Amino acid sequence: MYPRGHKRQVLLFLITVIVPCLVLVVLGLRIIGQERELAGKRATEERRRLANAVRQELLTVLERIRLREVSALVGQSGAAVSAASADPAVALVGWVQGDRLMLPWETLRAAAEFRQLLSEAPFAQKIQQGEREEFTGNQCGKAAASYSAAMALARHPAQGGYARLLLARALTKCGRRDEARAHDLKLLTLPSQLTDEQGVPLALYAAKRLLDAGVEHAAVAARIQEEAETKGWLPPAEAHMLSGLAGRIAPQTSEGALREAAEATQRKIAERIRFLEQALALQNDFPSLKLVRAGGQAGEAQPLWAPYGKETWLVSVAPAPAGRSLILVAVRADDVFHSLNSTGLSSAVLPAGMRFLTTTEAQGESLGENFPGLRVVLAVREESALARQSKLQRAFYSAALLLVLSVTLFGAYFLWRDVRRELRLAELRSQFVSSVTHELKTPLTAIRMFAETLQMGRTVDQRLQAEYLQTIVNESERLTRLLNNVLDFAKIEQGKKAYRLEPASLADVVRAAARAMNYPLAQQGFALRVQVDDGLPPVRADADALQQAILNLLTNAMKYSGQSREIDLRLRRENGYAVIEVTDRGVGIAPEEQERIFEKFYRAPTPENGLIPGAGLGLALAEHIAAAHGGRVAVRSAPGQGSTFTIRLPLERQS
Ligand code: ADP
Repeated sequence: MYPRGHKRQVLLFLITVIVPCLVLVVLGLRIIGQERELAGKRATEERRRLANAVRQELLTVLERIRLREVSALVGQSGAAVSAASADPAVALVGWVQGDRLMLPWETLRAAAEFRQLLSEAPFAQKIQQGEREEFTGNQCGKAAASYSAAMALARHPAQGGYARLLLARALTKCGRRDEARAHDLKLLTLPSQLTDEQGVPLALYAAKRLLDAGVEHAAVAARIQEEAETKGWLPPAEAHMLSGLAGRIAPQTSEGALREAAEATQRKIAERIRFLEQALALQNDFPSLKLVRAGGQAGEAQPLWAPYGKETWLVSVAPAPAGRSLILVAVRADDVFHSLNSTGLSSAVLPAGMRFLTTTEAQGESLGENFPGLRVVLAVREESALARQSKLQRAFYSAALLLVLSVTLFGAYFLWRDVRRELRLAELRSQFVSSVTHELKTPLTAIRMFAETLQMGRTVDQRLQAEYLQTIVNESERLTRLLNNVLDFAKIEQGKKAYRLEPASLADVVRAAARAMNYPLAQQGFALRVQVDDGLPPVRADADALQQAILNLLTNAMKYSGQSREIDLRLRRENGYAVIEVTDRGVGIAPEEQERIFEKFYRAPTPENGLIPGAGLGLALAEHIAAAHGGRVAVRSAPGQGSTFTIRLPLERQS
């Protein structure tokens, strides 16, 4: 409608509302993005902090174990490691000599002791004699006698056991099986500590012979089981022999329980062999593990625990309190991790449900220099709490942003609406000024023209003179009506318009209006039909104002009649109302305009209207006047078929 003004409006709106909104959105999104970044950083920091706590806790536990194991080892007599640690978490404790890790069974002194015992003079002579008779002379009986004599000479259980072993062998050769079996059964009860120089208990040789003979399965199985469950170290030779023996029992026996027990023992031994193999592998790999730091001293300042093996051990080397030798301590990682996870002490500091990794994958947190290659994956619970918190924050920011945006846009919408209304009003006002000027000009020109003609005294014709004068009067009345409209409107706008309500006859008011319009109507060839119901009671009304309203309707009927020259003015009673109706058969009004024509300054934007003078005030005033009398104005119209304007005034209230 107003292209230039509109463009400016749009531009202004963009600048004042859309641009700040966009800035707000961009800033909001940035804040949200930064918040997300910050949350990520916070989570990383939290993980690092926890990993540090885990590292310290782990280190405390391991150092405590190492201290205890080292002092236990040093406290043992000599360099021998006679028994495994009481702590099941400890896998291996051993001396390091030079670059070589000594496995516990390598430091056993039993072998040397055994050799020493067998070489004692009278005992050794008898044994040698027996062996000569047995192997060179093939005289098993004599050999048995010599071995018996040696047994009698024995002053140590190891000597006795050894001689009995040989005696049972010679007796077997002689076919004296019952005697041999009795000796073997006795040998079977010998304690584990009585071993040969390989560290194999003498009892196991007897067990083997009994199995060879296919007897005493139950006793042998029980002895093997006992051996497999001993707490101390199983030297590799013994472990493999035990495994062979256990494997032979199951196929030889038909007894279900015995077979099951033998199989269980076999599994147990297999497990111990796996353990031995890992210890041997560690011995092999020890130099390449670089557990001993430069300077030859194992890290006092920075304890070093390296993960090793399939069943992960945490391995560390510590200096023995006195002397320059080192001691290796290997701890079963799973046991320590488990104890870390389950201790009530750590639950306050450490997250529950952490997992340790020894892979090189970039998963989890590194545990630092103390644990090269060890990583910890921390509980998801902690992270999800952080994530939840940051999600909540983001949701809050988004909601706040949305709220600010909607409030701004809402306000902007109202501003936009108000501004548009103001602009339209300003537009209408300027239209009004030009319309009023135009309307003032027409009657003024006519008045002046006729007045000048009369002044010049040229017109002698009495009839013409009278007509001129009548025109001057009519035009000045038109001027008065127009000015009244404008003045009344101004009063209404200022809230100063007052109506003087006095008892009046509506019939008189309607007739007066018709009379006032008589001349202009007649001049333009209009036929005005007036129908007045005289039976209406007098009402309290401002007669002048009401007449003005009716005159406005009649003037409109004239202006918008087009080719038609018929107008009806009626006053009647209807359902307790006085109804004043003005009907024309002119141009009519489009339905969508019928609401708006009552607005001040509004003129229907039809091409014909452009040619018809008007200020857009007539109907607005008529409506205001009707409302002041408790009534209202309505219109019925169709384009091209004319219009009927109705003023309805309530009779009851008025009387
Ligand atoms: P105006 O000075 O323009 O006549 P009004 O307030 O009296 O102002 O009327 C408002 C508008 O209503 C007019 O411009 C015209 O378009 C429409 N209107 C009023 N009366 C009639 C009528 N009898 N027939 C057709 N249109 C009319």
